[in-house]
Amino acid sequence: MSAPDAVVVGSGPNGLAAAITLARAGLEVEVFEGAPTAGGGCRTEELTLPGFRHDVCSAVHPLAAASPFFLGSDLSARGVRLLYPKVAFAHPLDGRRAAAVRGSVAQTAAGLGADARAYSRLMSPLVRDAASIVPVVLAPLRSVPAHPGPMARFGLAGLKPASVLARRFRADRAKALLAGAAAHSMLPLSAPVSGGFGLLLTLLAHSAGWPVVEGGSSAIADALVAELLSLGGRVSTGCRIGDLAELPRARVIMLDLSPRQFARLAGGRLPGRYAAGLGRFRYGPGVCKVDWALDGPVPWAAEACLRAGTVHVGGTLAEVARSESDIVAGRHPDRPFCLVAQPGVVDASRAPAGRQTLWAYCHVPSGSTVSMAGRIEAQIERFAPGFRDLILARVVRTAAEMEQHNPNYIGGDINGGAGTLRQTVFRPTLQWNPYRTPLRGIYLCSASTPPGGGVHGMCGFWAARAALADLCPPPSQRR
Ligand SMILES: Cc1cc2nc3c(=O)[nH]c(=O)nc-3n(C[C@H](O)[C@H](O)[C@H](O)COP(=O)(O)OP(=O)(O)OC[C@H]3O[C@@H](n4cnc5c(N)ncnc54)[C@H](O)[C@@H]3O)c2cc1C
Repeated sequence: MSAPDAVVVGSGPNGLAAAITLARAGLEVEVFEGAPTAGGGCRTEELTLPGFRHDVCSAVHPLAAASPFFLGSDLSARGVRLLYPKVAFAHPLDGRRAAAVRGSVAQTAAGLGADARAYSRLMSPLVRDAASIVPVVLAPLRSVPAHPGPMARFGLAGLKPASVLARRFRADRAKALLAGAAAHSMLPLSAPVSGGFGLLLTLLAHSAGWPVVEGGSSAIADALVAELLSLGGRVSTGCRIGDLAELPRARVIMLDLSPRQFARLAGGRLPGRYAAGLGRFRYGPGVCKVDWALDGPVPWAAEACLRAGTVHVGGTLAEVARSESDIVAGRHPDRPFCLVAQPGVVDASRAPAGRQTLWAYCHVPSGSTVSMAGRIEAQIERFAPGFRDLILARVVRTAAEMEQHNPNYIGGDINGGAGTLRQTVFRPTLQWNPYRTPLRGIYLCSASTPPGGGVHGMCGFWAARAALADLCPPPSQRR
């Protein structure tokens, strides 16, 4: 290939989405990836024992299933098979009980007893309007949406803290269900927009589903790389970029990097005001992750958990709230809220016959070096007696080790920055086009730009669109 038109640093889902969008527009694109393999947060490896395939980062893919970029990419033609567990997510409570999102709003409400009506009233209008709401949420929130009514309904409810939103429920099951979905935000449940994260993820469970990828999340990255190569692009792995000067000259440079990395790579080239803005960018808490090879499925006491792809382990709303506020106070909770994924409920290819892989993480203070394996296992054992007896092997990655694994995960923050109200709209800095930087031709396209964390590729897609508009502005903007 001759000198590329565009260079992308980082091959996470956003870097690859940016590269593909540029290549589809006819640019010659080269991707430089620091790790030995492409994929960023979409990697699958035999972390524990031979034959046990673990998702190193992302495991459950509601955002990929709903992403306009992925929906326009026909990844199934490149071998990506999304598998949908019967129960999208379950939330066990003491006494062999659980709340669960399965199938339609009506089916889910039927399992929520006294809160059936309140759940339907909250979720039915949102699910009905999912096709209007989801694309807006997966784009920079900068213009009046085409369908303002549904978005206003979602926004009014979603701006609330989860703890306030949950007041419409009477019993512990529905409250816990909302708390578990909201806690994905890594915000205290008393924080504005924490309710919105819970609503969005629940809405996606009813509309797009919470699938896992057959064989592991790396299939998504492999398909994206194959698409890029078919468009004439190139991916060079094992190339960690330490300075912008190391990159070949190109008309467009896309950085699938955190603001802190960008500042480092740019050195003194950034204007002071923009550099100060990047310096004010807030990162979220870290995560401590554990992967297990198990001698069989987790023996959950509550039936719904046996069929769920994702299990939110942490007890009542009050317990989840305490765990999340401990993190903000810099403490490691004794009874952490844990996100647990068991792809084996729908994907037998992840482990040898009769055996299972299990994936879990809990939130911890930024940069933590503490292993939470014992506390996570105690929480799972609480709702699945006999779990510990099934453990064949485990691998733990602390928050500090997360950042060593991927320099984008600052302090172990896996979402590219805190999901506060301000940073939901303006990330990484307070500017109209979040992808452009003051350095001509250089754009940020990582999860630190809108719409934020998760495997959806939309940060890369929108950043590439901004670059293409700058290369070829519409006639009205040409001088
Ligand atoms: C433990 C964990 C669990 C998660 N679970 C889920 C989940 O279930 N569902 C979901 O949707 N999302 C999940 N996520 C989040 C999701 O993986 C990320 O939000 C997503 O991968 C962000 O994509 P990205 O392209 O912005 O960056 P990344 O995926 O982080 O990719 C950035 C790439 O850039 C490379 N890089 C960094 N610095 C340099 C450099 N200087 N030079 C060259 N290359 C560089 C990195 O090696 C990496 O490959 C999870 C993340 C983690 C860590």
